[in-house]
Amino acid sequence: MFLKKIEIQGFKSFADRIQIEFQPGINAIVGPNGSGKSNVTDAIRWVLGEQSVKSLRGSKLEDIIFAGSLKRKPLGMAEVTVVLDNEDHFLPLDFTEISITRRVFRSGESEFYLNKVPCRLKDIQELLMDTGIGKDGYSIISQGEIDEFLLSKPEERRLIFEETAGITKHKARKKESEKKLEE
Ligand code: ATP
Ligand code: MG
Repeated sequence: MFLKKIEIQGFKSFADRIQIEFQPGINAIVGPNGSGKSNVTDAIRWVLGEQSVKSLRGSKLEDIIFAGSLKRKPLGMAEVTVVLDNEDHFLPLDFTEISITRRVFRSGESEFYLNKVPCRLKDIQELLMDTGIGKDGYSIISQGEIDEFLLSKPEERRLIFEETAGITKHKARKKESEKKLEE
């Protein structure tokens, strides 16, 4: 499985719809300071379920929607789609290509789609849990995160190993069924 394509429109500095295609192996995005390289990784994080605007380097939800420039009016909606190559059926869906779309409006309303079918954030989180590519996965490593890992307490470090070992999903299900039993 690999990230095949990302489409961004209205997210942060990307007012126009852009599309970046990736190849298996190493791909690099280069450009001057402030040209939007980190915004691309923010977009990937966000579409994969990131809920914290702070970790997307914003302070409020609206900060992720194109805010306008000298020549362009602000936009009312941000939309990001990632297309994952699933030829190897790494993700347990009967599709060789999986697209995940997330949309947010200035009103705060948001939408998620899996292969163009509306779904819940939870469906995306569950699909990606324990794969290493979810929002708490370790496939996106930002500046400072390595230091954080080295300085973390053993209990915190354990969570990363649990995600790697693929048991986070079972823990989440156990917690959910315990909650249901209590009700
Ligand atoms: P560096 O090389 O310094 O790390 P970069 O290529 O990673 O730069 P980014 O941090 O991705 O750059 O992009 C920063 C730019 O994105 C800034 O110019 C900022 O004004 C713009 N930007 C961020 N949020 C928005 C928004 N909501 N609307 C419009 N532009 C935005
Ligand atoms: Mg950057």
